[in-house]
Amino acid sequence: MAMNLEPDKSTGTSLKVACSQCKCDTNHIVLKSIEASGSSGGDDPYFWDTSYQIIQCQGCDAVSFRSLSTNSEDMDPTASGDWERAEFESLIPKPNGGPPASSRLLHTSKQA
Ligand SMILES: [Zn+2]
Repeated sequence: MAMNLEPDKSTGTSLKVACSQCKCDTNHIVLKSIEASGSSGGDDPYFWDTSYQIIQCQGCDAVSFRSLSTNSEDMDPTASGDWERAEFESLIPKPNGGPPASSRLLHTSKQA
């Protein structure tokens, strides 16, 4: 099992992602990224890759973590009848998962 790491492959690119603060899809800039990919050899090789990205909303400046994974076994049919790798996206904080756990710190009243 070999694993490759490629830093900054998608750093600086922009993408449309659901923002937990804006409550809608907004443009995000990738501040930092690491591409990890690997495979297992043998008669039935298995390939995978995951992009880890720190992204910033261009609407509210909120910073989130996004990972996007594909592998050689999960395929989705396309509209044209071909197959493409299924993409698994995860976002932290979750776009619709309510406020992040640390948000209540924002509401603590300051002592005068
Ligand atoms: Zn936002």
